[in-house]
Amino acid sequence: MFSKILIANRGEIALRVIRAAREMGVGTVAVHSTADADAMHVRMADESVCIGPAPSNESYLSMAGVLTACEITGAEAIHPGYGFLSENANFVQAVEDHGLKFIGPSAEHIRMMGDKITAKDTMKALGVPCVPGSDGGVHHFETAEAVAKSIGYPVIVKATAGGGGRGMKLARTEADLETAFRTARAEAKAAFGNDEVYIEKYLGKPRHIEVQVFGDGRGTAVHLGERDCSLQRRHQKVLEEAPGPAIDAATRARIGETCAKAVADLGYEGAGTIEFLYEDGEFYFIEMNTRLQVEHPVTEAIFGVDLVREQIRVAAGEPMSFTQDDLELRGHAIEVRINAERLPNFAPCPGKITQYHAPGGLGVRMDSALYDGYKIPPYYDSLIAKLIVHGRDRPEALARLNRALGELIVDGVDTTVPLFHALLQEPDIQSGDYTIHWLERWLEENMD
Ligand code: ADP
Repeated sequence: MFSKILIANRGEIALRVIRAAREMGVGTVAVHSTADADAMHVRMADESVCIGPAPSNESYLSMAGVLTACEITGAEAIHPGYGFLSENANFVQAVEDHGLKFIGPSAEHIRMMGDKITAKDTMKALGVPCVPGSDGGVHHFETAEAVAKSIGYPVIVKATAGGGGRGMKLARTEADLETAFRTARAEAKAAFGNDEVYIEKYLGKPRHIEVQVFGDGRGTAVHLGERDCSLQRRHQKVLEEAPGPAIDAATRARIGETCAKAVADLGYEGAGTIEFLYEDGEFYFIEMNTRLQVEHPVTEAIFGVDLVREQIRVAAGEPMSFTQDDLELRGHAIEVRINAERLPNFAPCPGKITQYHAPGGLGVRMDSALYDGYKIPPYYDSLIAKLIVHGRDRPEALARLNRALGELIVDGVDTTVPLFHALLQEPDIQSGDYTIHWLERWLEENMD
């Protein structure tokens, strides 16, 4: 096992990793920007190194800064958290070139899944169901027309290098296709420096279902069921739950086994998420995330495992601590993402926390780096806390979420908490009957 690891991240996820490491007896090094000198992750780690000024591209995204911090402190491995350098294959390569261990998959697997067309081709070859669409990139409008005609409208034009919902355009009919094709390319060029796009059939009422997988890098892999992350605003997840209200045990076993086999065949190492759109009983692969996800705690709650501990274990060359047969799903878990944002427009709302009180009690987990008097800096993501509840079943989890939200106090800044109070009153949320478009429609009707 490592004696010391460095966490190349900040906020709640840095604390999350520090907690797992501490329970394992592994030393921790925090890195931080000048804006985060008083941040909780800096206080909680055994050691800390300032790696640059406030803007992330000069600090949390600085490969040289992170690698130097490892050298100064003697950390042997790097946990990237999510975001920042977590899916940067060049960084993984640099880490390895310096004789250090990246806690996560290989550069090759990150690169493979970072390119959406390669990812889709790979998954298709491994027997994972995909959305019907173009074979690879589409470079000419005439090809786009032919593909769209053969799969049928509506279609969606997506950037090969895509992420965060950018470079994605819908064409409902043939008349929309030219504009969709050209604007998707222009947006992709501007956002990713790569204007390659591909075409998929547009699904009208899907749910977003993602399967948590975990591999030891030596050909053994398991799945830990699914999460339903259909409640999204601008393609950003807002609330996640596990198990998915629309997925039964047989369906879970079928898609889970397909995913576990695919990552076993790849020789994939660590945590990964295979994302699908799910409509009329069919799964359609959209992408694979080669890292720990923001919403991993709902999976941890229902399976009673620590995914970060497993990541550190397999990175250190130890076997996974459970097999597929050991994994037994218990109860229901829901996570809400609490952002420092002002409704109704979700405008970022940084500032000083004048009072903070976290909810507690049975089945309540609060992952947050907040404290009384903390100043939320304006430079980073607006996620300030994740509230995760676990109950014996979905109604109990919903009641617990309602109760825990009522206990939470975050004063000094606006947050998205009122949104969750309102959502919990909705019959569709209570019954679990929603698709990826539900929240956008609800916001239009209720947030003016
Ligand atoms: P990104 O990497 O930019 O987040 P994804 O491929 O993961 O892109 O898609 C993000 C979201 O866009 C999905 O969760 C879904 O809401 C929507 N989307 C993507 N592909 C389709 C499709 N073929 N049909 C309908 N909606 C889609």
